[in-house]
Amino acid sequence: MLLLITTTSYPATDLGYLLHKHPDRCQSFSLSFGQAHVFYPEASEQRCTAALLLDIDPVKLVRGRSANLEQYVNDRPYVASSFLSVAIAQVFSTALAGRCKDKPELTQTPISLVAKISVLPCRGGEGFLRQLFEPLGYTVTAQNHILDEKFPDWGDSKYYTVELQHTLPLADLLSHLYVLIPVLDDDKHYWVDDDEVEKLLRHGEGWLRAHPAREAITRRYLKRQHRLTRAALAQLAEEDELDPDSAEETNAEEEAAVEKPMSLKQQRLNAVDAALKENGAKRVIDLGCGQGTLLRMLLKDSFFEQITGVDVSYRALEVAQERLDRLHLPSNQSNRLQLIQGALTYQDKRFTGYDAATVIEVIEHLDLPRLAAFERVLFEFAQPKTVVVTTPNIEYNVKFENLPAGKLRHRDHRFEWTRQEFQNWAKQVAERFGYTVQFQPVGLEDAEVGSPTQMGVFRHEI
Ligand code: SAH
Repeated sequence: MLLLITTTSYPATDLGYLLHKHPDRCQSFSLSFGQAHVFYPEASEQRCTAALLLDIDPVKLVRGRSANLEQYVNDRPYVASSFLSVAIAQVFSTALAGRCKDKPELTQTPISLVAKISVLPCRGGEGFLRQLFEPLGYTVTAQNHILDEKFPDWGDSKYYTVELQHTLPLADLLSHLYVLIPVLDDDKHYWVDDDEVEKLLRHGEGWLRAHPAREAITRRYLKRQHRLTRAALAQLAEEDELDPDSAEETNAEEEAAVEKPMSLKQQRLNAVDAALKENGAKRVIDLGCGQGTLLRMLLKDSFFEQITGVDVSYRALEVAQERLDRLHLPSNQSNRLQLIQGALTYQDKRFTGYDAATVIEVIEHLDLPRLAAFERVLFEFAQPKTVVVTTPNIEYNVKFENLPAGKLRHRDHRFEWTRQEFQNWAKQVAERFGYTVQFQPVGLEDAEVGSPTQMGVFRHEI
């Protein structure tokens, strides 16, 4: 059983630091079910591949238990399964935990990665394989192996050679493999108990909650044990409640209170509206629409022909819908609007076909390591002609009298950026995806610390 992880991000040999395994050496590890070997078939600064070879000993597997022939003769030594997850957790434990002693900054950095799994059993077929990895942003290549070349009539087997390609931090790739390989195999070599719920939630942190197949993943990961599955799903649902944004109701009030004296919110909406009109954007998708303030404003204006709001929070969408209903618009007007529940860090066909996307006070709610996924979802896959992004300018926080020093404006903000940080981010995103970007202050500008909100307007070059 062979797993290959290749990077082409320069210098590619940094993969050795990330995995804590030196590219010049071949290392072996004894595991309870056999040997794991780590070596590098290639290691140059342009391209580096680490191999994890599992040599599973079927005799060791059944030692001490009464066994039948099937326990000795089966596919386990040859395919990727929960044994591979255990090997990843033991042999690459530091990398899986997202730590790197020598180059800690690397752990958060998205790098170009390809994982190749020589034989992956996919119960549910290629369709299910894609359902698991594509929402996470992977490009999936799968080659099926027929059951027996001598007997083509027997048809396809459940075995695939799979390549998964993505630009993301290595720890994210390892977490995805750790959870999803046993899910595809739909079998586990050990008994699952409450610890397994904890492992699923730990390794699923940051991606499982919003994954469209989270129920299937949870059910299979926990070997269809109803009690454990219910417990895990309940915890994930609880996070839904907490995060983004039941917080929205209480915390947004706090944020509004901080920003209120100048009705910054209205100034922000006006600036966004003007940017959309300047760019002739009639079909607009508002990503992270929250309770729909911008949607209401656009809907009242006949300039806009199609308006879509997306949010991960069902609660926020319900409130948005109620408030829109209260406008009592005739159906030919309200028909221009739709609300969809979705996560901005997962590629989604429903985000395509718009003149413009607005991302208003949203990026600072995303975990920094997930920002790269969002960038691709928006600028590479959805690719609207215009993108309007606003985010707080942290330099301005000293001017808010009711905001204690060093505190962010909203409890759910994962970061707030200086003007320089926002502009650096925006410029590199624009350059990577073929956009230009211009910046505009929103709200009263202070000579020293700038304006309270910063806005970037991206235009696709062609
Ligand atoms: N744009 C709105 C709301 C900003 S609050 C306004 O200006 O008023 C941020 C919103 O982003 C919240 O409604 C939250 O639910 C949503 N959000 C945060 N992370 C998200 C994600 N990963 N996918 C989709 N929506 C997200």
